[in-house]
Parts: sequence; C-alpha cells; structure tokens
Amino acid sequence: MIPLRVKVEVNAEEPFVVRLRSFEAEEREREPEQLNHFEVSLERADPDGADYAGEGGPIRVLGIDPSELDGDVLLVNPRRGTADRLIRSTSPHNTFLVTERCDQVCVMCSQPPKKHHVDLFTYFETAALLAPEGATIGISGGEPTLFKERLFTFLKRVLVARPDLFFHILTNGQHFEEDDRSTMTGLDQSRIVWGVPLYSHDPSVHDQVVGKQGAQERLLDNLAFLCRVGAAVELRTVLMQPNAPGLPELARFITAMLPFIRTWAVMQTENIGYGRMNWKTLFYDSSEGFDVVGRAIDLVRSRGIDARLYNFPLCTVPEAYRHLAPATISDWKRTYREECEGCSLKAECGGFFEWHPRDHGYGRLGAVQ
Ligand code: SF4
Repeated sequence: MIPLRVKVEVNAEEPFVVRLRSFEAEEREREPEQLNHFEVSLERADPDGADYAGEGGPIRVLGIDPSELDGDVLLVNPRRGTADRLIRSTSPHNTFLVTERCDQVCVMCSQPPKKHHVDLFTYFETAALLAPEGATIGISGGEPTLFKERLFTFLKRVLVARPDLFFHILTNGQHFEEDDRSTMTGLDQSRIVWGVPLYSHDPSVHDQVVGKQGAQERLLDNLAFLCRVGAAVELRTVLMQPNAPGLPELARFITAMLPFIRTWAVMQTENIGYGRMNWKTLFYDSSEGFDVVGRAIDLVRSRGIDARLYNFPLCTVPEAYRHLAPATISDWKRTYREECEGCSLKAECGGFFEWHPRDHGYGRLGAVQ
C-alpha cells in the first residue's frame, strides 16, 4: 500500500507545511530551481533517509525513496516525528480529512466518527495553494460542514487564489441553511462537486442506515437548496442488503424529485470500520444479483441522468455496464488478487479495496480473457 504518512526528523516544535523538491544534484546545476518560502530541495540521500534544505526546512525524510516524494506537500508533525502526505503530486487521489466528528452513524461507515477535533484548515489552505496545476482536491470527514464557516472561508480563499483548482466535497447534507445562500452563490460552484449520500426513497430505510431520525427529510430540503444555489451534486448510494431491493424505486424517486443532480453513483461497500463490523448483514453480492442495479441504472439514464458504478471490480459487472464503472478506488488503498493475473481488463479495472475479505466477497469473479 502507498504510505500516506512518513517518518521524519526535524528541528522544530510546531507543525508546518512543506513541499519537497527531489532534484538530483546535476539537475540542480543545470537548472537552478526557484524555491518558494514553503519548499525544500534534496541535498543528499542515503539508504536510510534523504536530507532536504531550504526556507521550509531542513528536514530528513526516512524510509522512502525521495524520487517518490518529488512535489509532495507534507504536513509535518515534529513532536510525533511524522509527516502526512497531504498532496501526492503524481496522484489524482488527494483528500483533506478536515474532521473526524460526525452527527450521523452510518452502518457501513469506513471512518467511524470520533469526538475529538483538531482544526487544520490553516495547514490545508497552505497545502492547497501548493497543489499541482489543475488538481482536484477531495474534502472529507467525518462531516466537513459541521465546521462550515471554516470550510467556506477555506474554499473562498483557495478558489480565488488558485483559479485552476477543483474540489470534491463529501457531505451528509444535513447542515446547509437558507442563510448560507449568499456564501454558497459567492463560491465558484463550477469548480466544486458536492458528494451527497441518499440511501433510499423510503425515509425509514435511509434514516436507519445513517442512524438519525429525520435525516432523509432534512437531506431532501438541502438537496433542493443545493439545486437553488447552482451546486453540482453527485448523489451517492452505497449498495447494501438493506437498500438493494429498493434500488429501482430509488431510481424512480431520483428521476421524479432530483432530476437536477449531475451524477448518481451507486457504490460498493468498503470492508473497514463499521462496514467490517456489519459486513455479514450489509455486503450485497452484485456479481450474483446485478439485476436490481441494472434496472435502476437503466431507468435514470433513460431520463437523461448520468449514472456510475463506483468500486465495482469490472468482472462482477455485466459487459453492457462496464463503461459506467470507472476505477474509483484510491490508488493508495487499491489492490488486485491472484484471480486478476492475465486479465485483459486489469488496466481499466479499479480492483479491490486492500482490505476486501477473501471469503466474504463476490461469488462470480475472475480474469476476463
Ligand atoms: S479479474 Fe481482477 S482485474 Fe480483472 S476485472 Fe476482475 S477484479 Fe478487475
């Protein structure tokens, strides 16, 4: 698995953000680099670590080849001797986890909520400003809009300072209010996609999945609000045993009530966090029961709404639907299995979550020749 945290040695007390430039010595002589205030460049490397120097340093990074870190933006925690790779320069999967607090307790949550919160927005802003040209940055939690004033300020500042950046924000859609209208319309919504979960047309099923009574009613009000402020919505439905039979009904509901959404994403479950605890009662084997998925997808597409399948291994999806199943599992948690050897679809397939269980998964799976 690609490491998102590395060990560092640094002579500092407080956390700071730094971008690493891993130029080789000869390269530096040929093209003297222009380092900014937050950058450090590679001075020397040995088998144990790499030394960087510059205004943002010095810093020694341990246990990873410096060529893998060129352009990465780190949040360094000197007291722990670690650094989080907030931006991996060659990856399209960079996400800022802005809080671990949440007001819902979803049965399949991959990142179960915690009470503790540390505000890192100042660091996130610096990191975003150092992101590669044209990057899309994910914002996730917990529930990011629990801290919506900080979130809005962050977005406003970064969207203005970096007109080339885009954001994908995951939110449970519970915390927007009419008072947010002017702030929301003041943000360049053409560069933000809001990923919002809806699990069922039936309020009792949705509320049970998210562990909060009245959540679906509030969510539908706020989806209407997002529509009014011109927000791009990616509606997300994790496919599970409790909601799979009702998927075609949910599709009908979407076409009637939510035709403004940009995309409907039907997603496979992740076997971690609460998803692992509840796996036996949650995991829906879509390789054996794709019918409900196919009917639901056909319905929304027939009404002109885009639909996608996220986190589905391609061989579990009938051929006619594979073009709707992009490789969505983030690179750092993606894996393939021995069954994938020689598979002709491997280059386009997103494979599995690293932690997908061997014995409780798909009934039909295997290399496609
Ligand atoms: S065999 Fe592996 S690589 Fe091929 S489609 Fe299935 S999961 Fe993807």
